[in-house]
Amino acid sequence: MKFLERSFSLTPQDILEKYYGYTEFRPGQKQIIDQILAGQNTLAIMPTGGGKSLCYQVPALLLPGLTLVVSPLISLMKDQVDSLRDSGIHAGFINSSQSWEETRQILAAAANGELKLLYIAPERLEQPGFMERLQHLHVALAAIDEAHCISQWGHDFRKSYLALSSILPQIQSQPTIIALTATATTEVAQDIMARLDVPPENEVKTGFARPNLAFKVVKGQNKNNFILKYVKANRNSAGIIYAATRKKAEQIGAMLQKAGIKAAVYHAGLPEDVKKKNQEDFLFDRLSVIVATNAFGMGIDKSNVRYIIHAQAPGSLEAYYQEAGRAGRDGSNAEAILLYAAQDMQIQRLFAENSDADEKHKEVIYHNIQSMVNYVNTQTCLQKFIVNYFGQDMEDCGTCSNCTDDRQETDITVTTQKILSCVMRMHQRYGRKLVAQVLAGSKAKRVLELNLTELPTYGIMHDTKANQIEELIDYLTASGYLTMPDPQYPTLHVTQLGADILRGQGTVTRKVAIIQNNSANPED
Ligand code: ADP
Repeated sequence: MKFLERSFSLTPQDILEKYYGYTEFRPGQKQIIDQILAGQNTLAIMPTGGGKSLCYQVPALLLPGLTLVVSPLISLMKDQVDSLRDSGIHAGFINSSQSWEETRQILAAAANGELKLLYIAPERLEQPGFMERLQHLHVALAAIDEAHCISQWGHDFRKSYLALSSILPQIQSQPTIIALTATATTEVAQDIMARLDVPPENEVKTGFARPNLAFKVVKGQNKNNFILKYVKANRNSAGIIYAATRKKAEQIGAMLQKAGIKAAVYHAGLPEDVKKKNQEDFLFDRLSVIVATNAFGMGIDKSNVRYIIHAQAPGSLEAYYQEAGRAGRDGSNAEAILLYAAQDMQIQRLFAENSDADEKHKEVIYHNIQSMVNYVNTQTCLQKFIVNYFGQDMEDCGTCSNCTDDRQETDITVTTQKILSCVMRMHQRYGRKLVAQVLAGSKAKRVLELNLTELPTYGIMHDTKANQIEELIDYLTASGYLTMPDPQYPTLHVTQLGADILRGQGTVTRKVAIIQNNSANPED
C-alpha cells in the first residue's frame, strides 16, 4: 500500500457536491474512491451508466499530482474534457488529432501542475519520447478505462492495451491503478487483475441487474415490419436501432425516413461532420431514432433512450448488454429487443473468419458468438441469464419476454433422450446440422457418405423437420444438456446434466418453439 498525502482537506463528498452537484454516491463509487485514496490498485466493474467516470475523477481532484486516463475512445476525449472543463475541472487530452505544438503545451501545463486529469490513448504510452516526458510529472493515479480491452478473453481485445502491463510499472511516481469496465466475466476480471497488479480483494463489482430494462427476444418475424410498426407506435420516444453492417443500417434508416420518421444513420463509413451532426441531433432530441452500427454509443450519455432494438445480434453477450444498457439510464422503464434469425450469426462467424485475430483469440470470438446463440435460445429469465453470465445471480426480472411467456410447458424428456443418444452414437464428433439430419432420417449426401443411415438413431424423429430439430438442439445447448467445447469446430457433446437425462434421471420441459411477440406496443 502506497502512502499518498492529500493536497487539501476536502472529502470525496465535498467534491461530489461542489463539482458535480450530486448529493449521494451511487453503489460502489464510495468504496472505489476510498480504495484509490488509500493507494490500493482497484478493479471497478459497473454496468453502463453506473457512474464509472466519477470513480477516478473525484480522487483525481483530491490527490496531489496528475491523473492519467487511458481511454480507447479518441473521438470522445474532446467531449469528455470539455465537459470536465465546464464543471471547473482542469483537464486536457493528447491524441493523434493534435499538432506537436498543442501536445507540447498540454505537457507543459501538466508539468506546471495546471492539470488534474490528462486523457491519452494507450498507444501514446508506447512512444519512448512520451514516457520520457511523463517521468518529469508526478502521476498519482492511472485510470484505465474500458479495461476489458486488455484481455484476450474480452470481446474487444486491443493489442495496445496489452502493453500497459509492462509500461505502467515503469512510471517512476508509481501511480495507483484503477481499471474500469462495464463488461467483465470472471475470466476477464481475473485477467485484468493479473495484468494490472490488482489484488483479488480489491475488485469492486456492483450489481449488474437493470430492473427498469425489459429484455425481449423476437424470433421468426419479418424484421423490417416489426421495426416499422414499433417505431411508429413509439414515435415520441428516443430509440437506437443497431445493425451488424453499414449496409443494413442504411437500409433500415431509409425505410424509416420514407415512413416519415425522424431517423438518421450512424456508422464509421460516414464523413466526420455527418456523424457529428447525427449524433448531436439525436442527443438534443431533434431526431427520435438513430440507426447505427456498433460504432455508435460508447461513452454516449443520453439518459432518455426508451428502447434499443438490435436488428441483428452482435458478436457477444458482453457487447449486447453494453449496447442494450444504453436504454433507460434515467431509471425509467425501457425495452431492449433483439430480433433474431439464425443466419445473423453467420455474419458474425464471417467477421471472425476474416479477422486477423490469432488462433487463441479466434477461439474466444467463437465462444462469444455461442454465448449469444445460447441467450436467444434460453427459456429462463433473459436478464438473469446475462447476469449469470457475468458471474452474478438475481431473481427472475418478471418483465422479459421469457418471464412473461405464459405458454404451457411441454415435457420433452423422451425427445431429449433421442437427441442426446444420437449425439453419443455419432461419437460426439459432429455438429448440430448433421445430428438433426440423422434424427430426421435425411438422405443428404453427407449422411449417406458417412454411412450414418446404419445408426440405430437414424430416422427416429422422422416426423419432425430437420430445422426444427436444430432448434431443439439449440435449446438443449442453451439449457446446458449439450455443449460445444470448441465453438470454432462446433461438434456437440453431451454434458453431465445430459448424461443424467439419458440415464432417466430428471425431466426436460420446453415451451412451444417460436416466441410469439405479436405487438411491439401493448396498446396497439
Ligand atoms: P459509465 O461510464 O459507468 O457508463 P458515467 O460515468 O458516464 O457512466 O455516468 C453516467 C451518468 O451518471 C452521468 O451522467 C453521470 O454524471 C451520472 N452520475 C454518476 N455518478 C452519479 C451520482 N453519484 N449521482 C447522480 N448521477 C451520477
